[in-house]
Amino acid sequence: MGFEIFDLAGGGLRGVEKGMRLAIYPGSFDPITNGHVDVISRAASLFDEVLVAVAINDAKQGLFTMEERVEMIRAATGRFPNVKVVAFEGLLVEFARKQGAVAVVRGLRAVSDFEFEFQMALMNRKLEPAIETVFLTPREEYTYLSSRIVKEIARLGGPVDAFVPGPVVEGLRKRLRMGG
Ligand code: ADP
Repeated sequence: MGFEIFDLAGGGLRGVEKGMRLAIYPGSFDPITNGHVDVISRAASLFDEVLVAVAINDAKQGLFTMEERVEMIRAATGRFPNVKVVAFEGLLVEFARKQGAVAVVRGLRAVSDFEFEFQMALMNRKLEPAIETVFLTPREEYTYLSSRIVKEIARLGGPVDAFVPGPVVEGLRKRLRMGG
């Protein structure tokens, strides 16, 4: 390759060694929204491969099961050939290192996201210096979107078509009809 990459962190950039720059985009995705899809599409154009990683969190019971979330993300991101979806358990940086990722992608919507994300990024760097956290900002119209607010609107019978991908509109309709 005709360029040089400096290994600033000193821990070895595994993804680069393999000639592949893999980024992990972790989250709860309960469910995936258009804001998430926006971040995924930006990450997909920056990295060779993007792994959307749904965090298994026993303490946080979601509206959708892990399988449903993974399925909805796959349906919503099928048009990006370099995006894969998995579920993962345990420490994020450990998982990212095992996958050979060079970066963790997170979305930043507003100042309110910043403090938590900043703390996580620094802690993750402490735990695994070779993995960078990359923050991406979605289109302005998605900055007020969250999975929580979408669920709230859907529960109250409001339209969510403008906020989530088609398969999620369907999923929410079914789940809420079932009284979930
Ligand atoms: P978590 O429970 O880890 O916050 P989420 O699924 O809510 O997981 O979000 C995953 C990541 O996507 C987080 O970095 C979050 O800030 C970001 N995110 C969530 N909603 C949006 C949005 N509308 N636009 C951009 N980024 C978003």
